Amino acid sequence: MNRRLQKRFRNRILLYLLLSTLIPLCIWGSMVYTESLGVHRAFFEKQLQLSNEVVFIQTDRWRANNLAILNFLIREIRSAPERRWNEILQNAILSDPGSYASMILNLDGFNVARSDSSPFQSYADRAYFKYASRGQTYSEPVVSKTYQKPAFCSAGPMFRDGEVKNVIVLCSFLDRLSDTIGAIRIGTTGYVVLIDEKGRLLAHPQDSFLKTPAFAEESLALEKARLGPSGRLEFDGPEGSYIAYVSTLQNGWRVISLQSKSEIQHLARSSLKWVFAIGMLILFSLSIITVFFVDRSTAPLHRLTKAVRELGRGNLEAKVDVQGRDEIGLLAFTFNRMASEIRRTIEELKEKEAQLERHRDELHQKVVDQSQKLLYSSKMSSLGEMAGGLAHEINNPLAIISMRAQKLQDGLESGKLKPQDALELAHQIETTCLRINKIVRGLRAFSRDGSRDPMIEENLSSILADTIDLCAESLRSKGIVLQVKCEPHLSLECQPVQISQVLLNLIMNARDAIQNEKDKWIRIECADLMEHLLIRVTDSGHGIPAGTRDQMMLPFFTTKGVGEGTGLGLSICKGIIEQHQGQIVYNPDAENTQFLVSLPKRQNRKKKPARPPESFYEQL
Ligand code: ADP
Repeated sequence: MNRRLQKRFRNRILLYLLLSTLIPLCIWGSMVYTESLGVHRAFFEKQLQLSNEVVFIQTDRWRANNLAILNFLIREIRSAPERRWNEILQNAILSDPGSYASMILNLDGFNVARSDSSPFQSYADRAYFKYASRGQTYSEPVVSKTYQKPAFCSAGPMFRDGEVKNVIVLCSFLDRLSDTIGAIRIGTTGYVVLIDEKGRLLAHPQDSFLKTPAFAEESLALEKARLGPSGRLEFDGPEGSYIAYVSTLQNGWRVISLQSKSEIQHLARSSLKWVFAIGMLILFSLSIITVFFVDRSTAPLHRLTKAVRELGRGNLEAKVDVQGRDEIGLLAFTFNRMASEIRRTIEELKEKEAQLERHRDELHQKVVDQSQKLLYSSKMSSLGEMAGGLAHEINNPLAIISMRAQKLQDGLESGKLKPQDALELAHQIETTCLRINKIVRGLRAFSRDGSRDPMIEENLSSILADTIDLCAESLRSKGIVLQVKCEPHLSLECQPVQISQVLLNLIMNARDAIQNEKDKWIRIECADLMEHLLIRVTDSGHGIPAGTRDQMMLPFFTTKGVGEGTGLGLSICKGIIEQHQGQIVYNPDAENTQFLVSLPKRQNRKKKPARPPESFYEQL
């Protein structure tokens, strides 16, 4: 697995880890969310309830306070002489900033004393007077005639000798209660109102004292709250559902706090949204931090894996930079030691390989040298074989020269030789000398080691002619007819001496093969195959048996008797031809024994041995 794939694999595992943490977290989160929504709704409802309770407590305290002052007044006035009544009433008003008037009524309902300077008048029609004159303490909301403000009057009986003698009245403004109620806001739709036992508004954030409620929901709420029990109330108005809390004071007054249900839900949801978002953020950060730490803690392992992979790829310098005494540290230490062992072993192996290489080169050089020697000795052996024929080849012209020279000498001595005949004889001697010279030159050239000769452009006919000069006599002596068909203009780039050796080997093999045949001939034909030249060497033999055919190109394979053949001829021919980027093959389909040699006209040193054209194979 390559590095990128490994990294992707690791990232995927981390992602799975993250997902496997996040998915349960999300499920858990949504469950918590639903649960929390209820809790938050309850919390906002609790606000509604608390506001209600606050107003309830305040109103109750205010009412109780009012009654306490009234009782105090009754007690004071009962024990004070009449002349001090006005003073006591004024002091009571001054000591309680909420009160604005107090008075003492006689049993006809007229004020006999009062804290302010209102005129003498009758209060007999007031409910509080009626109740108090009958011995009951009673409170009722009123609109102050003097101040034209919502107020609250409490009245109580003043007993003397077991009978009601006077009625004491204490009036306080409801402003402060309205202010408290007005200051209470629950969300945007929630508020608190105070109603009396008859359902009239006593305090309202919008100061609609003793008026009919402005909103349909409100009037519905007030109606329901007045009639229904205290506690939680849920009802549907024309513009949605409402939730209300109702609490009833001792005197029958009711504190009602109400709020739109959808707002409570909205508030619960939006407050939870933040809590939830922050929670999720914390969880996500925790997951990231966990993944980060997991990644960090596995980093040494990754480094180790990387180093192992590097080593596997052949980087022997691979090292793991992990310290520590834990398992990974120990593993890293072992790995580094193993890597250095491998390095050392490989260096030793390299050294041994270099030694072997040197040894192989030396052996190769020896083989090359031996081959050269063998080649040369094979050549010498060919020459040795031809020595008799060559001697004859030279002896014959020498005899001719000797005869012509004798004839010339005799003719000159007798004086009978005409100048023209003398010239003819001299010409014949010169021609014969040249022939000898040519044979000797050919012999010298052939006997030379031509393996390192340069490649030169040479005429194929002349190479053939030089070769034939060397073996013609040998063939003739054995009664073998040599036929040569070669266009004089064919030339090729080659080492002529080497090509000559190939041709000579083929001719000598043919000679050896057919010397006992009745019909003895050797035919050499040349053909131009565009970029190649084809040389076909056929003899009158009847082909080579399959067993011999398979091995005859191998070095030292011979079917000839001891001292007759070296078994190197054909293998040397093959080597030379392949060196010339050509091919030499035996043609099994020919009627007689036939070898085909293909040679490129131009040598290309960059190329591998050129494959001969199809026409070469067509010859097969
Ligand atoms: P050598 O001539 O020294 O035996 P070669 O490598 O030249 O070695 O030849 C190997 C063998 O191939 C010969 O011994 C012979 O059996 C066979 N051979 C080669 N040329 C011919 C041919 N023209 N006709 C029949 N057999 C041949």
